[in-house]
Formats: sequence, C-alpha cells, structure tokens
Amino acid sequence: MKDRWSDADARRIVSSYAKQGVGPDVALRVYSSRLLGADRRLVLHGGGNTSVKTTLPDLYGDAVEVICVKGSGWDLATIEPEGLPAVRLEPLRRMRQLGALSDEAMVNAQRINLLDAKAPNPSVETLLHAFLPHRVVDHTHANAILALTDQTEGEVVCREVFGARVGYVPYIMPGFALAKQAVEVFEQDESIEGLLLLKHGLFTFGDSAKEAYRRMIALVSLAEAAISQRGTRPLRAASAPTTVASVSAVAPILRGLTALSDGDDYTRFILEHRASPDILTYVNGAELERYSQQGTVTPDHVIRTKSKPLIVPAPEPEALDRFGIAVRDALSAYAKDYHEYFVRHNSTQSVAKAELDPMPRVILVPGVGLFGLGRSRRAAKIAADLAETNVAVIGDAESMGEYEVIEESDIYDIEYWSLEQAKLAGAVSRQLDGHVAVVTGGGSGIGAAIVRRLAQEGAEVMVLDREGDAATAVAEECGGTGFVCDVTEPSQVRAVFESIVALVGGVDIVVSNAGAAWQGRVGEVPAEDLRASFELNFFAHQTVAQAAVAIMKAQEIGGCLLFNASKQAVNPGKHFGPYGLPKSATLSLMRQYAVDYGEVGIRSNAVNADRVRSGLLSASMIQQRATQRGVSPAEYMEGNLLGREVSASDVAQAFLHLALAMKTTGAVMTVDGGNIAAALR
Ligand code: ZN
Repeated sequence: MKDRWSDADARRIVSSYAKQGVGPDVALRVYSSRLLGADRRLVLHGGGNTSVKTTLPDLYGDAVEVICVKGSGWDLATIEPEGLPAVRLEPLRRMRQLGALSDEAMVNAQRINLLDAKAPNPSVETLLHAFLPHRVVDHTHANAILALTDQTEGEVVCREVFGARVGYVPYIMPGFALAKQAVEVFEQDESIEGLLLLKHGLFTFGDSAKEAYRRMIALVSLAEAAISQRGTRPLRAASAPTTVASVSAVAPILRGLTALSDGDDYTRFILEHRASPDILTYVNGAELERYSQQGTVTPDHVIRTKSKPLIVPAPEPEALDRFGIAVRDALSAYAKDYHEYFVRHNSTQSVAKAELDPMPRVILVPGVGLFGLGRSRRAAKIAADLAETNVAVIGDAESMGEYEVIEESDIYDIEYWSLEQAKLAGAVSRQLDGHVAVVTGGGSGIGAAIVRRLAQEGAEVMVLDREGDAATAVAEECGGTGFVCDVTEPSQVRAVFESIVALVGGVDIVVSNAGAAWQGRVGEVPAEDLRASFELNFFAHQTVAQAAVAIMKAQEIGGCLLFNASKQAVNPGKHFGPYGLPKSATLSLMRQYAVDYGEVGIRSNAVNADRVRSGLLSASMIQQRATQRGVSPAEYMEGNLLGREVSASDVAQAFLHLALAMKTTGAVMTVDGGNIAAALR
C-alpha cells in the first residue's frame, strides 16, 4: 500500500484553504481523506469515513469544541470542507452515558448539534469517532484487512498478523452500540494504533492527520504482506465450455429477464459488464457456488449489490434459447430465495419493513464475466465496482482459508436498516430511469434537443452523429455516450448498436432523427440526388430500426421506435420532392413496423414538425420564403393557426410524449403550430 502523504502537498492545501477561511485542521482532514479515497483498495463509493476534532467559532464568536466528520452523500476521494459537517463535541460525548439509543434518535441528536443547520447528516459512525479521544480518526474497508478477517479463522489470523498494535472489536452493526463497544476496547489498552472491526474494516487514529493516515497505510501494508506470504491456493477452475457467446448476445437476454413488469411497462436495469482476468478466474471457479453466496465482503456493500449475486450457466453461442431458459429458472429461484430471506427476518422485527425488489444487482456468467445492475448507469457501475472488490477480497481470503462473513440476520439488519429505508422512501424517480435511448443526428439542432429532453427524464442517452465531436459534446452534457456514425453505412450502424449493448446492456427507445433536405423540381432532379436523399431519408431509418428491433426482440420487453418524419410526407411543398418522397416512404415504414412488431410490444410512431429554426431550415431558406410571401422572417415562422413559432424543444417534447404513450403505435404527432393543409386524412 503506497504511502501518498507529501508534506509539500499538505502545506499547499492548508494555504489554499486558508484563503477561503478554512482552518488548518479541516484543510488537512480534507487532504488525508482524499488520499484514502484515492486508493480503491482502501475505500470505494462513499465507503469509509474520517473525522477531526477542532474548535470553531459560534454565532457569538466563542470557540466551540466540534468534531468535523464525513457527511452522508460525500465520497472521500472528492471531499470538500462542507462534506465534513461540524457537530458540537460535548453533547456527543455525553451520549456515552445512555443505556441505549435508537438510530433515529442518534441521527436527530447529531443533527440538532450541527453548527450549520443545512449540513448533510453526519456519518452513522460519528459516535465512534466522537467517543475516541484522538484528534484525528480514519476508517476504511481496506481489501487486505477484509481478506484477513473474512475467514472462518479470521480473528485468529488477524491477531497473528497485528498482535497488540490494534484492538479487536467483534461484529456489531454501526451505530450507538458499536461506538460504545469500540471505545471500551480502546480503553483496555490505550497504546493501540487502531481498532480492527471484525468482518467490517479498520479504524486508525492519532494526534495528527499524518499520524492517523500513516498508521492506516502501515497496518494495511502489513495485511498485504501477510496475504502474499500465506496466500498459496489460487481459485480452482471448473471445466467451462471452450467458446462462449459474446457480451452483446448475452446482455439483452439478461436485461430482458431482469426487467420487472409494472403494468404497461417495465422497471428496467442498466447493465455494466466487467471481465478482467481475475474476474474470469473467479466466475470460472469450481467452487463459485460456495464462495460467491456467503455475503458481501463488508456489510455496507449489501445496500448497493444485495447479499448474493446471481449465478447463471456459461452461454453457448449456438444455444442462446437454452441459456435464456436457464436464466429464467435461476432468476425465479433467486427471487423466491430472496423473498423467503426477507420473510424469515422481517417476522422478527418490531416494525415491519418494505420488501425491496427481488432482482440481483450482480450477475456472474462463467466464461463471460460479471454484470453490475442498476436503475442508472452510475448505479450499475457502482454495483460492478463493488462486485470487483468482492472478487479481489474473496480470492485472497480463499487463498489462505475459507471465506466467511457475518450472519444472515446481521446482513438483513444492514439491508433493511431503518435509515436506509427512509432514504429509499425519499428517493425521486423519473419516468425514463433505467431506459436506454439512442438518438441519431443527436449532435445538433432538433436531435440535440431530443437528447436533452430524454436525459432530463432519466434516460441513458446514446448520441449518434456524423460529427463525432458534436455527438460527444452533447452526450457529455447529458451524462451519456457519443458515437461517430454515418447512418447511411449499415456496417457502421450495426457496429455502434453492438457497442451500445456491450456498454449498457440493451436498447429501449430509438429516435431515428438524422436527415437532410434535398431540393429540386421533381421532373428535372438528377437521379443521384434522389438516390442520395433516399439513402439518408429512408434507407438509413430502415437500417437503424432493423438494428434496434433485433436487440428489442432479444430483450422481450417491448421497445419504442420514433421517426422524425416531415410535413413534406403529408403535404408536399413545391420543389421539395427529393426530400418529401423518401420521407413519405419513412412514414409508411413507421406504420409497417407498428404492424409487424406490435405483437412483441414494440411501438412505432413519428413526429411531423414544420418550420423549426434549428431544424433543416437554414436562415437563407427562411429569408427566401418570407420574401416570397411578402412577410418578415419572424412572421413567416409564426405563419400557422396558433401564430406561434415552433422551437426544437417543442419537437423534443413531442418525442418524449410518444416515448411515454404506452398505448399508442402507428401514430403521427404534428408539431407545427397548426397547418390544416398538412393534416392527415
Ligand atoms: Zn465502516
């Protein structure tokens, strides 16, 4: 474990925060918290917590003794001073006299002693930090520590490695009881450098940020050395098939089967695939069934990943139907098992809890790797990161002994912790959470407006554009991914869709938007112009829809095709034949998809927009037409029944409406301010 402390960096951060009015204690606390957060083998995704005891002025300028402790929702890697809310220390210390304290009462007592009423909730491990006398306290869930403690003989192994340098605290769920027990262990031998929380993690402490940090690094390094000396048994491989199906063939099957029906639509997950050599060794292990089903390496992972990953068989490329059936069976057994686990422990509770959905958050596929599942791409990545940490720790634990974690009832207590349940109840969900939306021509104009609108509703957006930089810029703004793609090249379209499936697991909504206007009097237009327009304004729509439908069929959870048609398809404009003719064919294409795929739940609809400034209408075209009609460009743009100009965001809103209209297919929605000549009849 690398010691990342640098006195020069520490001085720099102290002087830079001094300019913002932040004192050296908090500045150094920020510095060493980030050092801990920078190493994923120490903490990951909001795990771990840190504190410093200092004095701060109150409203009257009187110095108050406080503890600045990591706030809920902050990550050590990126923490700022406001992520370390200050709590009055004396009232916290006094709480040690209490016999018992519920989590809710503890959270309340911590909140009413905050110096800033708007600060985030102090960590649930605040009291442990507060009861210890040291100025600086660090807490991590270091992989190497977990590998030693998460074994049947974990405590014996840890005592051999660390001896009297640390105190040993039996497993207790975080909160008041653990804080009391931990400080009692410390008081038995005040010379210790830290506390080893069995089957949970490590605390170190000291008079300075540097001392607490260096003790953490030293103890974790000791654990790493012990693993490399004692770890002699690599995981034994099972006989796996020599060839397995590709990620892009497997992912849509998993994604479809894990989607939960909620009436007309499904609660969908994003899938994040990982397949490092260590992961493959792990998922191909002969004893996968035993070591992967014990529980997570540290208790708080269970909130993000559930206790057990789902194991499915290796997918043979020629037998994907059989794979699908096996996954379906494995999932129904998993859901039944999960429900029984809930009932078993919920029946012992004084307050009944709300059962969480029965779907796994990690799927292990021999030969292919692991998938993290989440209601957003971020959540899926977190699940996959935590699963990778579990792979590393369990591999090390098994190389020395036999992996073992806390009791099932302790796991339940964490998973159904009242504080976590309250967080879930307060979570806001958006209409397109968990949906993957692909938009062609999404790098600018109407396409970019559609991308933004769908992303606002929670969709994971995949932006395709001939201009790769434009696609990437819009995608980055919306937390999505950009792809350079000429939609008139079928091989490019297929490759991009395959990449999307490998990236997020599938596709739900496809907005086939890319287009361009060709003009010419139809009797005189060169054949190559007409053909070029057909390539982009008709065949490309077919290529995109075809690629999407293949994935949607594999998912078996319906899907949504949306085409950007045109007023030209209904009401041809003079000299716009080269543009309008293929657009008419695209309108029929939309209807044909509705007819052919309604039975598998794939909806197909179109939007007819007209006179949109950021659409295909250039400024010079607007000027030209306005002049022809003897009006100003603004009057021309407002020349519709409502007298209102149509914007790109109006068009985007229509696409969103259709994406959400679960009972609508084969329909055209107009967004033109009212143009009776273009009304469908
Ligand atoms: Zn912890």
